[in-house]
Amino acid sequence: MAILNKTVAFAVAACCCLGLAAQSLSPADRTAQFLESARNNPAALMDFLARMPKGGDLHHHLTGAVYAESYIDYAVEDGLCIDRVVVTLSPPPCDPAQGKVPAAQALTDFALRNHVIDTWSIRNFVPAPDDRDVRHHFFATFGKFDPVTNKHWGEMLAEVVHRAAAQHEIYLETMLTPDQGEAAKLGRALGWNDDFATMRSRLLAAGMAQVVAGARKNLDTGESGMREILGCATAKPDIGCAVTLRFQNQVLRAFPREEVFAQMLAGFELASADPRVVAVNLVQSQDEYPALHDFHLHMRMLDDLHGVYPGVHISLHAGELTPGETKPEELLASHIRESIEVGHAERIGHGLDVLYEAEVPRLLAEMARRHILVEDCVYSHEVVRGLTGSENVLPIYLRAGVPVALATDDEGIARSELTWYFRRAVEGYHVDYPALKRMVRDSLEHAFVPGASLWIAPENFTMVSACSSERPETEAQSAACRNFLASSERARLQWVEETEFSRFEAQF
Ligand SMILES: [Zn+2]
Repeated sequence: MAILNKTVAFAVAACCCLGLAAQSLSPADRTAQFLESARNNPAALMDFLARMPKGGDLHHHLTGAVYAESYIDYAVEDGLCIDRVVVTLSPPPCDPAQGKVPAAQALTDFALRNHVIDTWSIRNFVPAPDDRDVRHHFFATFGKFDPVTNKHWGEMLAEVVHRAAAQHEIYLETMLTPDQGEAAKLGRALGWNDDFATMRSRLLAAGMAQVVAGARKNLDTGESGMREILGCATAKPDIGCAVTLRFQNQVLRAFPREEVFAQMLAGFELASADPRVVAVNLVQSQDEYPALHDFHLHMRMLDDLHGVYPGVHISLHAGELTPGETKPEELLASHIRESIEVGHAERIGHGLDVLYEAEVPRLLAEMARRHILVEDCVYSHEVVRGLTGSENVLPIYLRAGVPVALATDDEGIARSELTWYFRRAVEGYHVDYPALKRMVRDSLEHAFVPGASLWIAPENFTMVSACSSERPETEAQSAACRNFLASSERARLQWVEETEFSRFEAQF
């Protein structure tokens, strides 16, 4: 209790001092001072971080972002059965004698409900002989709730954009498989050929256009379902309607090489045809055998396809291995560097093993010089990977001047939301307000949206000359700035975010 009183007294004293000095400080400086005064006051800190503008979530898996409770509801709606022990889903008829009960039982049977939620997330994870590793438990969840995902994109998108808006995000890029597996099927049917150009022309001739058309239809259905649920066309739209939503075409990298190539091609074709799909990304656990074994091949595929489709963005999960998880040679194999230099990644997801790659200082300097942003999921790196203290890479990238944006990865499975990631950055790694704000601005600077930046240069947050005389509090006043904003989707998002910052910082 004595300690608590001391903390409260410190916070009060800091606020008094703030009042005295406030006149001479800018709103941003006063806000930074407030955060320092709240650093050891959890209630004030959470309130501050919850209200803080957070820009965009750039690393977000749709199926991993939805909470298990929602998947239970979908399973009930679809009339599916749940295996009481392994918590997999199957079509009816159910067979309670064999442990396959109607999913609806998970609404009223509290023990079953808890077991399902724990199995479909990392909640209450306890190592068991047949479930020893939280990371493997985490990856195994996807296959268990998978049977309900494809039919419920509308509800899923509504859930995640609503949560994003509630966290004060204005932009979301979510990863999903738009074609729902059709490209992989096509690749499997046609088989492998060592010549990428031949592979591509055979896939195009064998029906890739239909795969892409089907993918676009799936996105239409998902988006219109989302808008309907959120009432976006009504007089009282949900807050989620205001979030700019874009998609990344994910490629399952642990699949056979012909299926990986076909998925990549579908992603590049789709992103070329549909502006909602902004990038290609490789997913699945990087220590799976095909992902490790075919890594260099995958990078060469991306290099080749990037040559054909240079306008399509690439973000890559890289450096997801941790010491002891694989042979040391795999950690040294420069997965981050090769993803950038051969795979053309403009952003790196996770980047956890950077300390174990060859020539780390040179790699970090290259990332800073080329403005390769790291999508840092600091909270999930702690709870899913166990990376805390000096093993957590957030301060390493920040110190090296590499642009970073905080992202959630799989907020549903990790039982989290973006504000908690900001909290871990502040409490665990001494990140201050200017660094948080820089990460928020960087999230929009590196978002895969078209158009020129509001800033004169990457990581230099001085407004371009057209808007340099403006104070972003409401709408731009000058014709030059208004015209510039009208010409660029990126700058419009950045302008909105700056007005949010003005409003936020005026409170301190
Ligand atoms: Zn990820």
